[in-house]
Parts: sequence; structure tokens; C-alpha cells
Amino acid sequence: MNHVYKITRSCKYFTRCSSNITNALADSTIFSLSSGYGKCGVSVIRVSGPRTSHALQTLVVTKEIIDKGLVLWFPAPASFTGEDSCEFQVHGSLAVVAAMLDALGKVPGLRPATAGEFTKRAFYGGKIDLTEVEGLADLIHAETEAQRKQAMLQSTGALSRVYDNWRKRLIRCAAHLEAYIDFAEEENIEDDVVLQLTKELRLIITEITVHLNDQRQGEMLRNGVRTAIVGAPNVGKSSFLNMICQREIAIVTPIAGTTRDIIESTHNFGGYPVVFADTAGLRKHTKDVVELEGISRAKECLQNSDLILLLTDARELLQNISTNEQSAQNYQSTYLQQLDLDANKLVGKRIQLIANKIDLLSSAELQKLTQIDNVLTITSKQPSADVAQPFLAHFEKLLCELCGQPTAEHPRITHARYRQQLERCIEHIQIFLNEYAPDIFPDTAISAQKLRNALKCIERITGHVSSDDILDVVFKDFCIGK
Ligand code: GDP
Repeated sequence: MNHVYKITRSCKYFTRCSSNITNALADSTIFSLSSGYGKCGVSVIRVSGPRTSHALQTLVVTKEIIDKGLVLWFPAPASFTGEDSCEFQVHGSLAVVAAMLDALGKVPGLRPATAGEFTKRAFYGGKIDLTEVEGLADLIHAETEAQRKQAMLQSTGALSRVYDNWRKRLIRCAAHLEAYIDFAEEENIEDDVVLQLTKELRLIITEITVHLNDQRQGEMLRNGVRTAIVGAPNVGKSSFLNMICQREIAIVTPIAGTTRDIIESTHNFGGYPVVFADTAGLRKHTKDVVELEGISRAKECLQNSDLILLLTDARELLQNISTNEQSAQNYQSTYLQQLDLDANKLVGKRIQLIANKIDLLSSAELQKLTQIDNVLTITSKQPSADVAQPFLAHFEKLLCELCGQPTAEHPRITHARYRQQLERCIEHIQIFLNEYAPDIFPDTAISAQKLRNALKCIERITGHVSSDDILDVVFKDFCIGK
């Protein structure tokens, strides 16, 4: 004997009753708990697929009340998945949820959803493209306000609109070229068509180049600004990390060379996500193999970071700058040069010089230090509010400059995959433009293929053409019920 549930027309009661309906499998209609597991005020259970209305009707046979709740009915095609869907909002008790899932499982043709399956159906149903799917995944994983804004824009189609615009224009160019190849002579199609389409292609290249030239702001915001705290031993790197994150993450001692491995910690500063890495002190004269390995890792981390916080002892910095009459900029370049780093990997990186231990300066020295441009000052050891607050305000400003503000008008590239495909798209168009000249009459069919290749790059981003490999990676970020 199966148990199903009754929902009254006023959508208030879920009741258990008897039914002789068999559990024969129909085409797949899926269900799952969409809210989180565990005790809570309200839990949401979703159903989607052709047998959703059947499931609802089946549940209307009254016998035993399970819970009092609300049903939302979303008929196709206007639902999230594009299919008939409904949501049960019930009390968030483990027993109520278990009873509801049990009952739905007994309705013929219904089966539990797999991870991300509702979103997959929305994607295959043409309701959203792949950038919107990825925006949704980012929205679910967003931990800071700026990440939420960016993900929200992407999930509602901000990037999709940009890429779709290029896609449609490339389709038009390819169609015009093919018409020119096929009918130029008979239909008297003007040579002007080719001129127009090369103009349009050059414009598309310019637009994509501007979009690519974003200093990786969107990716930084999505993944967190990788921030390396570097400097000589004992300048206060670990103390600085503990101070800025307001907890004892790293061990602080007066002994040089304490930090060996990289200590990472993620934090939210004014809505911007930052992944700090405390590194081994960079010094040349050590024979300790563990410390040498730590230094090598510190250099690697520094080269892979988005932002480098170069920490110095304020007394040493002041002395060095006064003696050598150099600017903060020079000091920092000289310092980095002697570390034998790969100069190419530092190109375009934001480096911020920080003078720590300002509590050890006399007031005259402190005044001198504050007159030097591009240096932030701090006391990492128990800083007073009037030292910490201006520093944090500067730091947030720096993050804002690095990550920018997500806007609907200029949505940012958020995934390395988009960047790679856009770069390839430009390459294909460029090859076409270099090769193609109507008077030379190259093999126009081959030239047309170059345009189709460019188009495919955009379509790989939006999912108009996609391989299972890409889809597997995209949907792996989803939980069951989404
Ligand atoms: P690291 O080797 O660069 O990570 O430096 P640590 O954070 O381990 O600090 C080295 C020593 O400097 C410790 O004794 C800290 O207490 C001290 N220290 C760190 N920051 C400050 C500061 O702002 N003022 C003072 N007076 N001492 C500090």
C-alpha cells in the first residue's frame, strides 16, 4: 500500500492517504529538497517534469495530514526549468521533509533529482545559457557583497547579452560571406558586402579586446584577491596577518625564520574577498634547508598573487629612504630585484609598500614617514583604532580599485575559460582578415570556415555548442535541489 499526500485547494494541508497506484516508471519527473538540510523554519521541496501536475493531483487524496504548508505551481513554459514545476513549502523539520520526500518517491514516474539537475533542465530547455548557469553557481557560493552583485548580474544575463550580441553579428557576417561566395555572380551581390563585413569584424575585435582588457577584475572578485604578505624576517608579517584578520592565525615570535610554509586565510573586506598568504621571511643568508624551501615557496606565491603587500620595519625603511634619497617606488623595486624573481611574472602586479612597527618611531620620525608617498603605515602589535582604521580604509580602497564595481553595462569576465575562448575568437577573425581579400580570391570556402571557428569560440562560452567535459565541470558546482 502506498502513501500519498493531500493538498487542499487552499494549499494548506499535506495529508497522507492510501492509494493503489503502482510505482511504474514514467518519463522523468524529478523532486528534491531545495533548501538546506537540518532543522529550520521552512523547507522547500521542488518537483519538475511532465508528471508534476499528476503528482499534485495524486497528493490531493486526503487521509493523514503530514504538515500544513504552501504549494506554488509554475506551469510550463514560464517556470525556471521550462517544464511544469511546483514547490512545496513545509515546516523545516527532518521528519516532515523525510515524509514528503518519501511520499513523492512513491508517486509513479517521480524520482529524486541528481545534483544540479533542475538547472541542467533549464539549460537544455533553452531557459538560460551557460554563463547564466555559472552565474547561478557563483551566486550560491558567493560569500561577499561584491561577489553577490557580480554573480547576480551574470545569472540574470549580463554577460550572456554581451556574448549573444557578438554571436549574432558573427552569424550575420558568416551568412553574408557565404551568400557572396554562392551567389555573387548570378545575383549581382555588391563587393561592398565584403567591405562591410570586414569593417564589422574589425569592430567586433575592438569590442572583444576592450572586454578582455579588464585587469582580471571579474576573476579576482570571483576567486578572491590573492594577496601575498612578503618581506624580510621579523618585520611583522605574521603579526600583520593576525591583526588584519583579527585572530591568531600565524605564530608570532621574535625568532627570525619562524614561518616556513605558506599560511592562507580568506577574509571579507568591505564586500571584497581576499585570500591572504603569510610567507616565509625573504633573506639570502640561510643554510637551513626547511627555511630555504619556505623562501622558494614564498617567491612562487609572490609571483602568483594579484596583490603584493611588501612589509618593512618602519625604522629600516625610513633610514634607507633618507640615506639613499630614494622614493618608496625605488625602494620597493630595488628590494624585489635582489630576490631573483621572474620579472615577467611581476608585470602589471599591484605592489603596496607597508611600514610596520610605527609605534617604535619618535613623533618626528613618524611625521617624516607620513610625508613619503605610496607608503601605508601600521602597527601590527595591538594597534590603536586611530592607526588601524585609516589603514583598513586605505586597504579597502585598494581592493575597490583592483576589483572594480560590477555593473550591468560592463559585465566582467569571471572565468578563465571565457578569456581563452575570446582570445581564440579574435585569432580566428584575425586570420580571416589577413587572408581574405576579394580581389585575390582565395579559397573563400576555407576563409568562411575561419569565421565559423570564431563563432564556435563564442558558442563554447554560452553553451550553444558544448562538450560533456565542459558541462560536467560546470554542473559539478551545484548541489542537489538546484
Ligand atoms: P615575521 O617574521 O615577519 O612574521 O614577524 P612576526 O610577526 O613573527 O614578528 C616579529 C617580532 O616583531 C615579534 O616579536 C612581534 O611581536 C614584533 N612585532 C610585530 N609587529 C610589531 C609592531 O607593529 N610593533 C612592535 N613593537 N613589534 C611588532
